[in-house]
Amino acid sequence: MHIAKRANQLEPSATLAASAKANALKAQGVDVLSLTVGEPDFITPENIQKAAIQAIQDGRASFYKPTAGIPELIEAIISRTQQDYGLTYQKDQVIVADGAKFILFNLFQAILNEGDEVIIPTPYWVSYGEQVKLAMGTPIFVEGKQTESFKVTVAQLEAARTPKTQAMILNSPSNPTGNIYSKEELTQIGNWAVAHNILIIADDIYGKLVYNDNVFTPIATISEAIRKQTIVVNGVSKSYSMTGWRIGYALGDETIIRAMVKIASQSISNATAVSQYAAVEALAGAQTKVEEMRQAFENRLNEIYPKIALLPGFTLEKPQGAFYFFPNVSAAMTMCGYSDVNDFVADLLTEAHVAVVTGIGFGAPEHIRLSYATDLATFEKALGRIETFIRSKKQTN
Ligand code: PMP
Ligand code: GLU
Repeated sequence: MHIAKRANQLEPSATLAASAKANALKAQGVDVLSLTVGEPDFITPENIQKAAIQAIQDGRASFYKPTAGIPELIEAIISRTQQDYGLTYQKDQVIVADGAKFILFNLFQAILNEGDEVIIPTPYWVSYGEQVKLAMGTPIFVEGKQTESFKVTVAQLEAARTPKTQAMILNSPSNPTGNIYSKEELTQIGNWAVAHNILIIADDIYGKLVYNDNVFTPIATISEAIRKQTIVVNGVSKSYSMTGWRIGYALGDETIIRAMVKIASQSISNATAVSQYAAVEALAGAQTKVEEMRQAFENRLNEIYPKIALLPGFTLEKPQGAFYFFPNVSAAMTMCGYSDVNDFVADLLTEAHVAVVTGIGFGAPEHIRLSYATDLATFEKALGRIETFIRSKKQTN
């Protein structure tokens, strides 16, 4: 069969591929502990479930909906953003879609011409670069060094800027590192973007998952000029444990939103109706479960971090948000005789039955990613297996 170049050249999602591999082994009866995919392990809160059931039963979920999103959800997004960010957006500055992933896909389609450049700090979430390429854009990767807590500076961004630079992605708290940019850092980056008319794509999806004394500042809140230069991307997947419902949204410049609505009208028509009604309850209803789940992640982080930091050949700072550990494992690999992280991760799966994601898809091949959106007992058992694996390899090599 004939397959288009764009599909042939596309990398599959590294996170979803790792998770599928772990699940395939599980289906064969292997006792695999999977720390791959980043999705909260909690059942969606009951009030949200009930709102969805109600919408199904009274017929509201049966029909097509406005492409930009149902009015109730647009209202709920505006009011949640008003409460959380202190910013007021108008209705024509909001679009809802099936997941923040599709929001980003649509956004790149809406803003990029062939050869337009998007600056992406590394390590980055696995889908950014591939989505830019699907829109015929060019990802320009700027290295966030581990010694700088994986954060990029304006000097680095300026060195990467060309006349073709259209946008930059800012994902704070970050998937995969869990690090958060400070207000001062964001001010510098935001002012630089404004000065050079570069769109800031602020992927704030982990904004509510911040731990210990760390603080998340949304870049759009720094100044009015920066807000105008920013498209905020968010969704209910992570904060409300609603990954399967597939609801994400964007807020920002109305001409960009209008272009995205046009693209959505010729692709998805509208985000799934029942999920939109559920998302209204998530955003507008009681927020107590959000804090309970955040607390559970924080407890896991505080419990696990000291142990993972002690694994032989692992180096990592304590993450500040999201729900991932992203250790540099180059020393562990050397110790065990590996030069390729793919081999290290493959043997970890087949021999120790622990599934993690290699750092390659995140642009950091000396790293692996372990998700602690996994219950504590499973994670601790996995750590034990990883340690045994490293020690056994160390002896035999
Ligand atoms: N951005 C980041 C950084 C993510 O980790 C994810 C996780 N899937 C998404 C966006 C997309 O989330 P969703 O499509 O589930 O809304
Ligand atoms: N964002 C999550 C992750 O990084 C979910 C999977 C995906 O969409 O990549 O694991």
